[in-house]
Amino acid sequence: MRVARTLRREHVVLSGTAQPAPGPGEALVRVHTVTLCGTDLHIWEDDYATELPIVQGHEIAGVVETAPPGAEVNLGDRVVVSPMRWCGECHACRIGRMNACRSSSCLGVYTDGGLAELIAVPATDLYRIPDTLPTGLAPLAEPASIAMQAVLRGRPEPGERALVLGCGPIGLLATLHLTSLGVEVTCVDVDADRVAFARRFGAVRTAVAGEATGPEPSLVIEASGSPAAFGAALDAVATAGRVVLVGISDRSVTLSMRTLPVKDVDVLGSRNSQRRMGEALALLAAHPEATAALVTHRLPMDRVDEAFALLRAADELVGKVAIDVVDTVHERLTAPAGRTGVPA
Ligand SMILES: [Zn+2]
Ligand SMILES: [Zn+2]
Repeated sequence: MRVARTLRREHVVLSGTAQPAPGPGEALVRVHTVTLCGTDLHIWEDDYATELPIVQGHEIAGVVETAPPGAEVNLGDRVVVSPMRWCGECHACRIGRMNACRSSSCLGVYTDGGLAELIAVPATDLYRIPDTLPTGLAPLAEPASIAMQAVLRGRPEPGERALVLGCGPIGLLATLHLTSLGVEVTCVDVDADRVAFARRFGAVRTAVAGEATGPEPSLVIEASGSPAAFGAALDAVATAGRVVLVGISDRSVTLSMRTLPVKDVDVLGSRNSQRRMGEALALLAAHPEATAALVTHRLPMDRVDEAFALLRAADELVGKVAIDVVDTVHERLTAPAGRTGVPA
């Protein structure tokens, strides 16, 4: 089978390797599509706590090729893979917050991942894709689960106003989720095109960073990873409001000791997701137009380097970049109608 291995900085090579042999409890999945994110870009640039070479890809959809006895998925099921691994023993795991596991790991980040024709994964990590959601869009369930985790951490209430800072995929998916919960969302980004794009995910108001953002929000989701945006979030949020930080940066912020106590504000960190892949698939299936719009670029498996260059350059509007691991041209010609799910 073919795998796309990131051998060294900015260099992915396609090669042949033996098929993985599923262990006890594992299913074999024929990978259809992998979508890429910022973490993938850092790994590709060799600017991440990962040792190269590695097979990247943690946002994965495919079709079950073999399933272990007693599994809830069957041969031929279209599935997404939950890539998170946790220890089950640390404080976070013991209180059910495995998303914050002290020694968590992730398929395609610390161990070989989805940019391969076949992968062996625990059958319990597989989630069946709803009938109406194309396989080629289903990997978005992974970033959607992270966005939903951040939203739910903020305890959203229908009818309240939220501000989302950063209109990358996590900010846009958070906007989609908030809107579906009846929250009125204003989106902000430094890029005017991204801000305009946020309307397609339900934002009722948008602003370029620095412009006025309208009525005071009681909930702010910070999804840009910019220290300036953290300051903007604390300025904007209502007293007794909530600020959720899901954007990550190594940079520092300076904060007055007055801000948090005087505003009586909850500042909450959010990381990964607590097994929300099923909920995320349902969100995507309920919003087919926004889901399709988010994947702005689609490339075959032998053009992974090009996909990363596209993500980094961002000189055009780049939402998510998808890599089709299956030969979609071949699949369109040979698969029975209704089985391909590859958008035009
Ligand atoms: Zn990711
Ligand atoms: Zn743990």
